[in-house]
Amino acid sequence: MLSPRMMPSLIRQLSSVSTKMPCHSLNLSESQTRAMWRAADCVCFDVDSTVCMDEAIDELAKFAGREKEVADLTERAMKGGMTFREALEQRLQLIQPDMQMVETYIRENPPRLSPGIEELVGHLQSRGVAVYLVSGGFQSIIEPVATELGIPHENIFANQLKFYFNGRYAGFETNQPTSNQDGKARVIQYLKKKFGYQRVVMVGDGATDLAACPPADAFIGYGGNQIREKVKAASPWFVESFSDLVKELSMA
Ligand SMILES: [Mg+2]
Repeated sequence: MLSPRMMPSLIRQLSSVSTKMPCHSLNLSESQTRAMWRAADCVCFDVDSTVCMDEAIDELAKFAGREKEVADLTERAMKGGMTFREALEQRLQLIQPDMQMVETYIRENPPRLSPGIEELVGHLQSRGVAVYLVSGGFQSIIEPVATELGIPHENIFANQLKFYFNGRYAGFETNQPTSNQDGKARVIQYLKKKFGYQRVVMVGDGATDLAACPPADAFIGYGGNQIREKVKAASPWFVESFSDLVKELSMA
């Protein structure tokens, strides 16, 4: 288990992992992906629109009354010409999430978990599979999600908001691997190296989830909340319900 004390060295190690963007996903067939899923020793879940039904940054923008501006920026970012980090930076500049806003947001917005995720995580953990939450979202907003799912907080890899002493927004921790476009790939590479996982499966709805395979050994596309056509097309196995994943486990 990782203690908070180990975080600085962990960040250093993660940052030194290759920054090269994986250019293609592994060419596994659906049946090979299913087999990898049944045999996985580590599963990494994306959070926004995967474990949770919504996108935390959009919800936070709504809460701050900047929904429209942030949505416009997200759309521009998705059309390209902006790095993941720039898009994150600019959206947060619009939202200006101070400490009080984040605390109130968390208190008033308990996690909206996707149907079946609790059962799925429970199944995996009872099989001894390590479960991680790997997200481009924020640690403080994801912690209640992890608590609800019985996932230790040290198994969260996400971005960290920074505040000035008076609680005002002061940016985010740019040393966190997840603040990069290929951050999820870096986290998985780190986990494999650190814990010796042999069969890591990434589950998610987005392009950055897909890009984490490799180093992940398999990718499963999830479309229960949002279907991203490019991700669906590139996924050897695409599910719209977590019950499909539970069912597959019972075949092992
Ligand atoms: Mg997502």
